Amino acid sequence: MKVKFCGAAGEVTGSSHLVTLSNGYKALLDCGLYQGDPEKAYDMNRQFEFDPRELDCVILSHAHIDHIGRLPKLVKKGFRGNVYATPATRSLALIMLLDSAKIQQYDYEYDVKIAQRKGLPTKHMEPLYTVDDVYKALSLFVTVGYNRWLKIKSNLSLYFREAGHILGSASICLKIKEEGKEFKLGFTGDIGRPSRPIIKNPEPMHKVDYLICESTYGGRKHESRPSEYKHLLDIITKTCVEKKGKLIIPAFSLGRTQEIVFMLDKMSSSGELPKIPVYVDSPLSVNATRVFRLHPECYDDELVDYIEFNPDPFGFNGLHYITDVNDSKAINSIKTPAIIISSSGMVNAGRVRHHVANNIENPNSTILIVGYCAPGTTGHALAIGKEEIFLFGDKKKVRADIEVMDSFSAHADEDEMIDFVSNQKKSVKKIFLVHGSDTARAAFTDRLSKEGFSQVFSPMLGDEVELD
Ligand SMILES: [Zn+2]
Repeated sequence: MKVKFCGAAGEVTGSSHLVTLSNGYKALLDCGLYQGDPEKAYDMNRQFEFDPRELDCVILSHAHIDHIGRLPKLVKKGFRGNVYATPATRSLALIMLLDSAKIQQYDYEYDVKIAQRKGLPTKHMEPLYTVDDVYKALSLFVTVGYNRWLKIKSNLSLYFREAGHILGSASICLKIKEEGKEFKLGFTGDIGRPSRPIIKNPEPMHKVDYLICESTYGGRKHESRPSEYKHLLDIITKTCVEKKGKLIIPAFSLGRTQEIVFMLDKMSSSGELPKIPVYVDSPLSVNATRVFRLHPECYDDELVDYIEFNPDPFGFNGLHYITDVNDSKAINSIKTPAIIISSSGMVNAGRVRHHVANNIENPNSTILIVGYCAPGTTGHALAIGKEEIFLFGDKKKVRADIEVMDSFSAHADEDEMIDFVSNQKKSVKKIFLVHGSDTARAAFTDRLSKEGFSQVFSPMLGDEVELD
């Protein structure tokens, strides 16, 4: 058996690893979009490290776009095999990929318009795929529940286990029989965190012989969770009750938005939430929340208990879901206190930029950053305390309060990753670290070595290893 590292190798995005069995059968683990430098992304997302027509199947760990975002392109290039995923991953893949196709089309038309106006060439702009390509990709899905072996071929079986990262997320274990031997290859996908709301905790994988392991938060530790409910309530009280201002929460549509809405739902049920309107203003967030309602099989015990007396954990009096762009604009004219949850989480795209632009110079307002913001984004500038930012080409003074809550992360920190892999100590022969920056991988390699894992490697894009 061979494994070729075709994405998220030596970096974070574009997750994709090709497994080739000795009889020639090819299975691709994830087919993610590369989201780094735009010039590099153009080529990276259009070329594959293999011929898509020769691929037999794809197995998806979860529905984040850096794990599924090139799937329609793969189909466009001739892939016709099965795509294995959990039921919730399939549901989320539909809305995530449709959103991605629509954004690409919108950006393309906008860029062409600007280029033509300025007399510039229009190369390097075409969308990767269309809405039609997304539907073709979706027709290939075969859904598989957690905790059961599925025989894909006589010598290859697949097992999904809860990864605790986002709704539907799974670690992948492959049982392979070759030349009279049986062994297991594991892929962690993205490792989630214990004790997060809504979804179940990550479960340890089977003991495997070889492990492809993520390393996003190598060398880092998250803020502890118990304080986050009180922290959020304090920010709401200060902003909306004492200052009578607006609280703007830039949040990722998938996961983070539902966690915050669920927390506000609990505050509403307990009577702690002040009587102010709450808006979830993002079409993707609204669609993602609908998918959460469809998959109670993914809920943790806390949420199962909660819905016994509150059947809708993502809906309460005063909560409004906004999809129409005119309704979104109307929020700007509201003069009374309000909470506005909108994407993107990094304030680099989407409607939240308008809400931040309208409130950033108002000292009564607060912008609450609840997720990772890449350097260069407006969210990052706010999180590190810049006094001025640029939005829509205008310079804006930061007069609103800026708050940061780091505890919402869906990624395990270093200690949590170590806990997740600790049961592999006696079985695993080699670990391949992917999905991490150079610094994160170096730190995690050191830590793994201290924990007794000696054979740890950091493959680069295109590297291939023979395993037996
Ligand atoms: Zn992820």
